[in-house]
Amino acid sequence: MNNSTIAAIATPNAPGGIGIVRISGENALDVAAEIFKTVSGKSVADSKGYCAHFGNVYDNNERLDEAVCLVFRAPRSYTGEDVAEISCHGGLYITKRVLRAALNAGAVPAEAGEFTKRAFLNGKIDLAAAESVMSLIGASGKQAAAAALNTLEGNLSREIKGVAQSLVSVCASLAAWVDYPDEDIEDTSAEDMLPVFENAKKKLSDIIRHYDCGRAVTDGIDAVIVGKPNVGKSTLMNLLTGFERSIVTDIAGTTRDVVEEKIVLGEIIMRVADTAGIRETENVVENIGVSLARRRLERAELVLAVFDGSEPLTDDDLDIINQSKGKKAVALLNKADLPLTADRKIISDAFEYVVELSASTGEGRDELEKAVAKICSTDEFNPNAACLTSERQRQCCVNALNSIEDAVAAIHGGMTLDAVNVCADCAIDALLELTGEKATSAVVDEVFSRFCVGK
Ligand code: GDP
Repeated sequence: MNNSTIAAIATPNAPGGIGIVRISGENALDVAAEIFKTVSGKSVADSKGYCAHFGNVYDNNERLDEAVCLVFRAPRSYTGEDVAEISCHGGLYITKRVLRAALNAGAVPAEAGEFTKRAFLNGKIDLAAAESVMSLIGASGKQAAAAALNTLEGNLSREIKGVAQSLVSVCASLAAWVDYPDEDIEDTSAEDMLPVFENAKKKLSDIIRHYDCGRAVTDGIDAVIVGKPNVGKSTLMNLLTGFERSIVTDIAGTTRDVVEEKIVLGEIIMRVADTAGIRETENVVENIGVSLARRRLERAELVLAVFDGSEPLTDDDLDIINQSKGKKAVALLNKADLPLTADRKIISDAFEYVVELSASTGEGRDELEKAVAKICSTDEFNPNAACLTSERQRQCCVNALNSIEDAVAAIHGGMTLDAVNVCADCAIDALLELTGEKATSAVVDEVFSRFCVGK
């Protein structure tokens, strides 16, 4: 492993009360001692771990700021190495100068996620827990944060290791039987193995299903706002984002491109696209927007279909009703502050969820929130259960589950036990890839490349 001493600003790239420069590695305390002079005169290089020192930061002889330096001694630190954290005033200039001073004193700039990567490589946390650090930082709501914290604390890894362990025991007896068929090894029978596989299958299926119903809370889902021009799509988008994002006019066809926004509705994160109004048109430019909107509608996981409740439905509305068929969708009868003229029955027959809304006053927003929570089944999500926190982890679980199903099929198909053994081995590999015990360096690099610098 690279044992250079790394440094980075750990706080956001914006002015704040406090800015933190983190230094980690073999020479972290020497680097800190060179740029940070305690008021007591003691060097932080001689400090015990878990100590805070008050003093001043210098770059060569230039005093930069008053600061506090926290010292953590290996292995009892976030990274498992010696770590110094200098908390200075949170101005952009000051934090950058303190970082530069650390680099001048011998540290090298940390790469994205390098502190957490070192924590992983030093055995402080496993890969699933490391990923949940980013999920925790990016959490937009209470449930998402609770789920990430619970994975960080190891709930998921414990569950996955339990499943892997049960498969390892089966494999161990299988391997002995396959390798030494003439020895007097207790016969491993399919009947003994099946319950273990069935139990593993159930656990993994539950974890995957749980992730799928929590994904709207943890990762977010792709949603789309569709409707013919002028029904109030942009006004709805502005209501959901809380600020004027789309151009609102009363001229039909003003939103031509797809505007995308991440919004939080209750606990649910939606990547919402406000599209051009879908209608038959001869206008070439508008038509491009309409095609984009149709494509977006096709791949959306959730459709918010908007209708103008104050006007009778038209053929363009019926077209949208048709296109929303078979999708998870909420019909919004907008402009509910005006008298209802649209044929509500046509809408109720086509959509399971219909919400009367006034996008301009906000009336009906709570009903929309409840309808979306029901559609996404987030009411079944329990952040205290074992939670996957990334698509990578989900894929590992799916691969393991498929291999276990192959093992069961091999038993039922009367295949030899070494075929069963190969399938069980593949399942174990997938589970160990999830926790990082058997992940390739390419997988590890890919995971940490998504981190921010300083984490
Ligand atoms: P879009 O073309 O579907 O994006 O529609 P806009 O959001 O641009 O709205 C079209 C017009 O309808 C604008 O004049 C809005 O002020 C108006 N409008 C939107 N929502 C409402 C509503 O809930 N009530 C009323 N009375 N007018 C609305």
